[in-house]
Amino acid sequence: MNKWVYLFNEVKEVEKVSRGSWDSVKSLVGGKGAGLMDMTRAGVPVPPFFTVTTEACNAYQKANKFPAGMWDQELKALKAIEKATGKKFGDAKNPLLVSCRSGAKFSMPGMMDTILNIGLTDKVAEGMVKATGNTRFVYDSYRRLIEMFGSVVMDTGDEVFEHALESYKAEKGYKNDTDMQAEDWVAIVEKFKVAYKSKTGEDFPQDPFKQLELSTEAVFRSWNGKRAVDYRNKEKISHTLGTAVNICTMAFGNMGDDSATGVAFTRNPSTGDSLMMGEYLINAQGEDVVAGIRNADPIQNLVNQMPKAYKQFMDITAKLEKHYHDMQDVEFTIERGKLWMLQTRIGKRTAKAAVKMAVDMANEKLITKEEAVKRVTPENVDALLHPQFDDSAMNQAEKDGHFVAKGVNASPGAAVGQIYFDADMAEKMAKEGKQDTIMVRPFTKPDDVHGMIASKGVLTSEGGATSHAAVVARQFGIPCVVGASAIKIDLEKRVMNVGEITLKEGDWISVDGTTGKVFAGKIPTSEPSLEEQTDLLTLLNWADEISARKNIRSAPNGGPTRGLQVWANADYPKDARRARSYGAVGIGLCRTEHMFFEPERLPIVQEMILSETSDGRTAALNKLLPTQRKDFDGLFEAMDGYPVIIRLIDPPLHEFMPDEEALLEEVITMRVKGQTDGLKAKEDLLESIKGMHESNPMMGLRGVRLSIVMPEIVEMQVRAIFEAAADCTLRGIVVKPEVMIPLTGTVKELEWIQPRLLRIASAVMAEKKIKFEYKFGTMIEIPRAAVTAQEVAKQAEFFSFGTNDLTQMTYGYSRDDAERNFLITYQEQGILGTNPFQTIDREGVGKLMQWAIDEGRKTRPNLEVGICGEHGGDPNSIEWCHMIGNNYVSCSPFRVPIARLAAAHAALKHQPVVAKKAVAKKAVAKKVVTSSPKGKKVAKKK
Ligand code: ADP
Ligand code: MG
Ligand code: MG
Repeated sequence: MNKWVYLFNEVKEVEKVSRGSWDSVKSLVGGKGAGLMDMTRAGVPVPPFFTVTTEACNAYQKANKFPAGMWDQELKALKAIEKATGKKFGDAKNPLLVSCRSGAKFSMPGMMDTILNIGLTDKVAEGMVKATGNTRFVYDSYRRLIEMFGSVVMDTGDEVFEHALESYKAEKGYKNDTDMQAEDWVAIVEKFKVAYKSKTGEDFPQDPFKQLELSTEAVFRSWNGKRAVDYRNKEKISHTLGTAVNICTMAFGNMGDDSATGVAFTRNPSTGDSLMMGEYLINAQGEDVVAGIRNADPIQNLVNQMPKAYKQFMDITAKLEKHYHDMQDVEFTIERGKLWMLQTRIGKRTAKAAVKMAVDMANEKLITKEEAVKRVTPENVDALLHPQFDDSAMNQAEKDGHFVAKGVNASPGAAVGQIYFDADMAEKMAKEGKQDTIMVRPFTKPDDVHGMIASKGVLTSEGGATSHAAVVARQFGIPCVVGASAIKIDLEKRVMNVGEITLKEGDWISVDGTTGKVFAGKIPTSEPSLEEQTDLLTLLNWADEISARKNIRSAPNGGPTRGLQVWANADYPKDARRARSYGAVGIGLCRTEHMFFEPERLPIVQEMILSETSDGRTAALNKLLPTQRKDFDGLFEAMDGYPVIIRLIDPPLHEFMPDEEALLEEVITMRVKGQTDGLKAKEDLLESIKGMHESNPMMGLRGVRLSIVMPEIVEMQVRAIFEAAADCTLRGIVVKPEVMIPLTGTVKELEWIQPRLLRIASAVMAEKKIKFEYKFGTMIEIPRAAVTAQEVAKQAEFFSFGTNDLTQMTYGYSRDDAERNFLITYQEQGILGTNPFQTIDREGVGKLMQWAIDEGRKTRPNLEVGICGEHGGDPNSIEWCHMIGNNYVSCSPFRVPIARLAAAHAALKHQPVVAKKAVAKKAVAKKVVTSSPKGKKVAKKK
């Protein structure tokens, strides 16, 4: 016979069938049941209870009825509880009342339902009044049962009961529930029974066993209620776990002024502060505290009203925290001065609290530093580094009717600014008007990026978490809400509407990328700086320590044995400085082409492109050389002592030219109007641009191919790099330039170009009479380069995976087209699990990377390997990079702290068994020494 029910004192049995794993205990009897059993074992006062297992729940879901034997076991367990309490279920003289509570493996606060006071009937109520002399208490409990049973078991909803109570109170002229007298509750019970019957067509059941049976079933059913399903989807909790049911002797907090009920967190879940945060209500029951029916008192006040119970409570909770090594979220009830603990679980917390608690607990030696690092998620760190709205300010705005809409919280952080409906305006008003702007669009496209970057925040009415707006916003750390579909944007009239609210261009708006909420007007924000967040800094330093540990990584292919380093992608010195302050220890990608786009330089670049001879090109490039040198100089200075990877020119040249269509239009207009002034020049330009036309430019003349066709550009760039490096060295700065050649497909390309560039490097060093470390390497972003990595490594001294292009070319997707046209469908249809442009596709792209590393290191065992695609800031992809032997990941400066934490997580997760054992041994040895009284004596004698 299957055992479906466990008693409060049967934790050993549960552990036995769970083979000693606490995780399996929780799977079987749920988190709440496990916590209650554990507390009972430890001697904490818990009202006697029994737990129906999650297996029973799952069996119920399959057959739509209780599994055979379950109900009998429940009845038997009930007998045991009667024995333990000396009360009898359904008895009028000395009745046992119970609660029926759901409790899944993972806590899902407020998602499933609880029914209190089961066992009360007309007869039992009468008997209880006789026994207690407390009519108010009995009928208050009874009316709660009718309401909870009605709404949870019979789907009546709360409203009938709320209305009945409200109209009764109005009739009597009462303001609060506390105004209600004993006879009022008696009257209410009758009204509730009528309401119950009006909704269900039946009388409220007077058989306590029926009440228990239907309540148990209702908890099973609530597992598949919409609320619970949505919650599990959001939290990625499996739908097949099922919930346990806990039938628990009632402890009454509503028996008078010597009774109370409350909830508490052993530390402050919002700030992480170590002062307990809790609330209680005198003479109340169950969730009155949470529901906020009356103003609850802070837990610390309890010491005045019930000093004994308070002290006991503080002792118990302190022990619980020690026992579980984490902040506990507890529920308690005091019945006529006697304390009962009703729940303990690991408390949920904000990002800020997560970091503070982890650091505090490690400092208190409650947990190890490794554990502290593990407890904070990359998302926590992300949330802490973006400007945030005050919770109270947001609530106020909502109360004031400024709430506009809720969309997908695509990129965290708070942004306040003036609305502009296109990229050009958003940029113009930001740059020239010095405004804080918010770009609002139905959706964004690649040519909107300049407007997004210039804005404080981005809001779209269409698209999801992988839409263009979302991806770009995250890349640049811009708060962003997408898919706020309630918003109607009229681009013609330049207004947006939601219901009654209309916002025009230039109006203020507040966008919260953390919650997805949008408000009209300005909500105050606070900008967190990393330097001020000392706890986070401490935690990140611990993360770095872990990553830097020798032999934390098994390196079967001769790769690094420490964890990953974190570098950053930065094009300008100011980005590099930010990256360093965020903890980056190198620049993994400096894109040089951005520098060509600057207004003073672009005409020279165009002049260079248009010249027909090598000499012409060189002449133009010579004008660019000093400015490029200055760019690199600043970068080296900012990264003093750290490696800087500079990528040679990558995009196709037409990107530097005016738009062909716009130019054609101009030419036509001039012709029509008969304007001849400058027409010829424009016509020539148009011809040249036409001549540069490629049908698929991203796969055309760009990257190393361009360098081979027009070597003058990269020759200038290498000269600029080495001259800057030499100048910096002369100024006492330690430079480590690494020149990166993009888009290699065959080693032959490197064989052609690299020696020329090396000659320039040597020439400059000879001219400047100085030497410094440098490397030449390549990006691996074409599958062929990955496949032939053993060959490529003969030239390349380092590899950097350009995973954006590598993903595009491995899948054969053009990213923009994919994200616009079919990626969402693919994800919805389950063809793609995640967006491969966000998270590395381990089976395909990831395998290629792994192969490339293994092959490359065959040629060059100490080959330096990194990643500079957007994936470098994605925790899941970072883990992969750790597993395959990357030396570092490089990401946007904003994501550096996240990546540092993710790198440590990967290191801890994949720590070789030997290393783990060694650490454990050390810990044990230490323990023995400190805890052995003999050892102490010896130490003292010495
Ligand atoms: P949740 O998981 O949503 O917190 P619970 O099952 O813990 O739901 O119960 C909801 C409320 O009812 C809590 O305030 C809890 O303390 C109270 N409660 C549950 N069982 C009992 C009981 N046997 N005696 C007194 N109060 C109870
Ligand atoms: Mg609870
Ligand atoms: Mg590329």
